[in-house]
Amino acid sequence: MEALPTSQQRLQGKVAIVTGASRGIGRATALALAAEGATVVVNYASSREAADQVVAEVEALGSSAIALPADVSKADQVDGLINAVMEKWGQVDVLVNNAGITRDTLLLRMKPEDWQAVIDLNLTGVFLCTRAVSKIMLKQRSGRIVNITSVAGQMGNPGQANYSAAKAGVIGFTKTVAKELATRGITVNAVAPGFITTDMTADVKADAILQFIPLGRYGKPEEVAGLIRFLAADPAAAYITGQVMNVDGGMVMA
Ligand code: NAP
Repeated sequence: MEALPTSQQRLQGKVAIVTGASRGIGRATALALAAEGATVVVNYASSREAADQVVAEVEALGSSAIALPADVSKADQVDGLINAVMEKWGQVDVLVNNAGITRDTLLLRMKPEDWQAVIDLNLTGVFLCTRAVSKIMLKQRSGRIVNITSVAGQMGNPGQANYSAAKAGVIGFTKTVAKELATRGITVNAVAPGFITTDMTADVKADAILQFIPLGRYGKPEEVAGLIRFLAADPAAAYITGQVMNVDGGMVMA
């Protein structure tokens, strides 16, 4: 059997877009893909300074990066983002649909705007970015797409009807698009983090959650980025598509 390459620069000459890469899991992902030699598009909504800092960190790893603002829940801004990337580099090899927000409250108190904002970014944003990038990947006959879902989309979570609906939607979307794009060698997978220490979870009463995590601790953004890196860069991941993989300390065991 042919040995798989072990180089750690497996994305040299490749362009990766990471949505919501200014902070948290997106930032860690941008750095992990940069460590593989990828040119990284650091998308963000409003944290310009943080995004510029991620670009500087990518450059310190010897890769190139650009920070591009775009609200990925808006079709025109997604088109602008992808057009800008195509004008500069003419290719998109990896898309990580990571941008996400929460607007937690119990169902009876949930306002339609809380519902809509979360669906618009966490689900419609994934659709918009994937649709725009898949046109490019279909022509290239290659590409890797990783969608960030959540354990909340698999098992539900009180106070997160909007978020868990969006994240469950991402799982169905991932499986369908994986089937649609498979004939052109494009893989589409979902990564489901559990409780990861980021700004998103800063206000969550974490102690109550610890008892549901078999490994007995919260996760780090880098631990999620490690799986994304594998799915996006490793030749061994070329035969994996339509899957949901958890990085959750054992919270969900299918
Ligand atoms: P985070 O630290 O709050 O960062 C969110 C990122 O999304 C930021 O870069 C933010 O940009 C960006 N963003 C927000 N609204 C956006 C928009 N409209 N368009 C483009 N980008 C936007 O979040 P995180 O914890 O790293 O979460 C990342 C992903 O993992 C999300 O999809 C989240 O649902 C998922 N997840 C997280 C956990 C967890 O425990 N943390 C668990 C399961 C799943 P700005 O800095 O410009 O605002």
